[in-house]
Amino acid sequence: MTIGTPLTASATRALLLGSGELGKEVAIELQRLGIEVIACDRYADAPAMQVAHRSHVVDMLDGDALRAVIEREHPHLVIPEIEAIATEELTAIEESGVRVVPRAYATRMTMDREGIRRLAAEQLGLLTSPYRFVESADDLVAVAPELGFPVVVKPVMSSSGRGQTIVRRHQDLVSAWAHAQAAGRGSHKGRGDTRGGARHANTVIAEGFVEFDYEITLLTVRHAGGTTFLDPIGHLQVDGDYRESWQPQPMSVGLLEEAHEMARAVTDALGGWGVFGVELFVAGDRVLFSEVSPRPHDTGLVTLVSQDLSEFALHVRAILGLPIPHVARLGPSASCAIVAEGVGVPVFHRADEALAEPGSDVRLFGKPRVEGHRRVAVALARGKTLADARAIARTVADTIQVELVP
Ligand code: AMP
Repeated sequence: MTIGTPLTASATRALLLGSGELGKEVAIELQRLGIEVIACDRYADAPAMQVAHRSHVVDMLDGDALRAVIEREHPHLVIPEIEAIATEELTAIEESGVRVVPRAYATRMTMDREGIRRLAAEQLGLLTSPYRFVESADDLVAVAPELGFPVVVKPVMSSSGRGQTIVRRHQDLVSAWAHAQAAGRGSHKGRGDTRGGARHANTVIAEGFVEFDYEITLLTVRHAGGTTFLDPIGHLQVDGDYRESWQPQPMSVGLLEEAHEMARAVTDALGGWGVFGVELFVAGDRVLFSEVSPRPHDTGLVTLVSQDLSEFALHVRAILGLPIPHVARLGPSASCAIVAEGVGVPVFHRADEALAEPGSDVRLFGKPRVEGHRRVAVALARGKTLADARAIARTVADTIQVELVP
């Protein structure tokens, strides 16, 4: 294991594909270990670009553009932070000898909801919600009765709740279809070069609604020394978008073992080194698999205060082949997303008042602009109890005022 010096011939170079708030924390951890960091995203001045050595504005769904950046930068490591990447090109990049994190196969299988759902439910036999993939509003109307209402309708290419609807009545299916079409993120250009089995960009997943007691993200680290499970993270979603998370989510030993087994099965199938965010529902005595990200997860922002090594530090350790002998737990912790609504450049007020609360912290992401609805910061807290930590995080989030300046 050798690490060079950035900006010299010996440098160990990492290229980030996606430069959001999670990528920014990964970039900071890479910087701490003397890795040369090159950040890419579709727009300039994205959060991770602000802490990288260099950056490029590229459409990561454009295979040619991706290859051009690789040829220019010659990275040793390519670290995806988002799902929407030209995955066929990523596979070619891996075959040419560049390490893709955790590996190109994992990125390809998780780039949309179809690949990962079929792998988990049909190949690995993990319990999931009932589901159907549909290609038209008529198909959706036809399959809904088999799934039973409510039906959760989501574009196969989307995250953070974009295009998602919980449909309670038959007559609302067609508008849910239209909503999913309007928000589906993948382009034909991007989807045209994906793995076999992917259908066209309009594909929608219809899922039976799971009446879960709680949902968790089980951060799972595959590294040189084996697999490490972090304490389960409980979280609260509003319209499919994460608003609060806390760690450790209390769970019975039996349910936790079941969760570990599922996470191990799915992460072993995806392979490679790095952090995976395994999303699970707990309903009664059953654990259902929902999704997995082959990278740090937004609900895992809580690990910035709950552990000595955050999910970002662990991701970097794992991908560099460094050991992870122990992760120290620092006590009940929580995060609360700060979401801005409107148009303009965020300006934050009252952080001084917010951080006067003992045990509190905040990350302001530095996103250059908000148009619509955007997470711009996160409040973090440790407390004596989970309830304490959550209350502090919420208070910090409520205290900080985000002004959007035109
Ligand atoms: P996803 O983008 O699939 O992670 O969905 C976002 C959130 O929507 C999840 O974290 C759940 O809170 C909720 N959700 C998604 N699918 C279902 C489902 N089949 N049943 C109940 N809730 C769901």
